[in-house]
Amino acid sequence: MQDLTDAFVELIRRAATLLPADMERALRKAREDEEPGSAAEGALDTILQNVEMSRAKSTPICQDTGTPIFTIHYPLGVSTRKLADQIRRACAIATEKAYLRPNAVDSLTGKNSGDNTGIDFPTMHFEEWDEEGIKVDLILKGGGCENVSTQYKLPDSDLGAGRDLEGVRRVVLDAVHKAQGLGCAPGVLGVAVGGDRGSSYIKSKQLLLRPVDDTNEDPKLAELEDRLLEEGNELGIGPMGFGGKTTLLGVKVGTLHRLPASYFVSVAYMCWANRRASMRVVGEEITYA
Ligand code: SF4
Repeated sequence: MQDLTDAFVELIRRAATLLPADMERALRKAREDEEPGSAAEGALDTILQNVEMSRAKSTPICQDTGTPIFTIHYPLGVSTRKLADQIRRACAIATEKAYLRPNAVDSLTGKNSGDNTGIDFPTMHFEEWDEEGIKVDLILKGGGCENVSTQYKLPDSDLGAGRDLEGVRRVVLDAVHKAQGLGCAPGVLGVAVGGDRGSSYIKSKQLLLRPVDDTNEDPKLAELEDRLLEEGNELGIGPMGFGGKTTLLGVKVGTLHRLPASYFVSVAYMCWANRRASMRVVGEEITYA
């Protein structure tokens, strides 16, 4: 198997410095929709300038380059141990090159490892598949938006939320309301319904890999996504909490099977700096998206 360390460094550079085109389009549309001269318009102008400068100079879009979360699809016979070593090495090199801020801190001592590696850091999920070659998806999940991500256990009597999609709607809007623009609105939500506490959180983050402007294949979930986007924006929290029409840019909902006893709803809140990049390796050919 070829050494993919350099390719992983390039994947990290792309994720850290190039905002995906669908996100930039959504931010530009949001800017057009805000009142001229408003604080919301000003915040979006600053964000868009920042996006352009990061792209031009290959510098991080935000000072918090977040937790690198890799999802790796690989065919039978590939060593996941070797891939994991190469990814860890790539994180250290990307830190040296200042694509990533040193972000991995020992939870007991508070000491920063200095190179974005540590115990279960970066995060990696490996999934074997039947297709040819390897696909790697990377998201960089900022700390501020992670702090306002949350999980609900339904039913929730305080919110009048039962174990159905109406209950999901209520708790998701509660999460957006409680965030109040913290976690750097306008954001994108990944909402996982079901699973156990752990699998539900993982799924909620994986949903953030979907393009912000796609449509859910399940008509019921598509309807819920549209409604949550509309109602979330009606809260008026606005970019960075300054008030305005744009609190959310997208909502992505997915489901997992669950125990009869449990009904979890996990809300992964992603900030406007919704950094994601993908890489496909087939034979010697490496492509990025
Ligand atoms: S929440 Fe996002 S935009 Fe805000 S500081 Fe963190 S990474 Fe940056």
